[in-house]
Amino acid sequence: MHFDVLTLFPEMFEGFLQTSMIARAREKGLISANLVNFREYATDRHRTVDDTPYGGGGGMVLKPEPLFRAVDDLTQGSPRPPILLMSPQGETYTQKKAEELAQHSRLIILCGHYEGFDERIREHLATEEISIGDYVLTGGELPAMILMDSISRLVPGVLGNETSAMTDSFSTGLLEYPQYTRPAEFRGLKVPEVLLSGHHAKIEKWRREQSLLRTWQRRPDLLEKVPLTEEDRCFLKKLSD
Ligand code: SAM
Repeated sequence: MHFDVLTLFPEMFEGFLQTSMIARAREKGLISANLVNFREYATDRHRTVDDTPYGGGGGMVLKPEPLFRAVDDLTQGSPRPPILLMSPQGETYTQKKAEELAQHSRLIILCGHYEGFDERIREHLATEEISIGDYVLTGGELPAMILMDSISRLVPGVLGNETSAMTDSFSTGLLEYPQYTRPAEFRGLKVPEVLLSGHHAKIEKWRREQSLLRTWQRRPDLLEKVPLTEEDRCFLKKLSD
């Protein structure tokens, strides 16, 4: 997976790219990132990337020329990958979207700043607009890192234990079951007996039920979309009785 990130603040990505699993994935060549400061594509002497909005109003708007030129340069002679515009007005990001984007081998991410983008960037350069939630940040850099992180961990080999991505919350359509580690007893608080039993079928059943319970308690909306077995339905019925 290769990410081209167009940003005015490439330094914001340093810690993220140099830490933990993302750093290891880069070392192994499983992912790579090219940080492009699109100010370098501004044409005037002052390297201007923004201007006041037509029609008046506060704030500055990102001009179209530098971003269009940067993308043209990056995609010369190659088919255009998805071009993702970070925007609070976009489609709300989900695990399903991360899984879909992880199927590509290259993504271009456009990070906004100030008041946002000239509309022609939305309409004629970006292929998709993605929001990470219903709140407004100062820039698209944190949203871009959220995308890069969630997509990278789906790239085969990035996580040490491949099964963990499969059982994570949302991957199964449910929230993940509770997890415990040693010690078996801490300040009188005990790990559920079944997890110490070594009985795999019982552990699987307990985990499935805990996942269902947790989803039912915290995110009942998810239960409407997930395929459920007859056994799952019986368990959920008992909860609501
Ligand atoms: N004026 C814009 C609006 O009302 O839609 C908000 C601009 S915001 C201050 C500056 C930039 O931060 C946006 O262009 C976008 O790139 C990024 N951004 C802010 N909130 C975001 C969110 N929830 N999801 C994705 N990107 C966001």
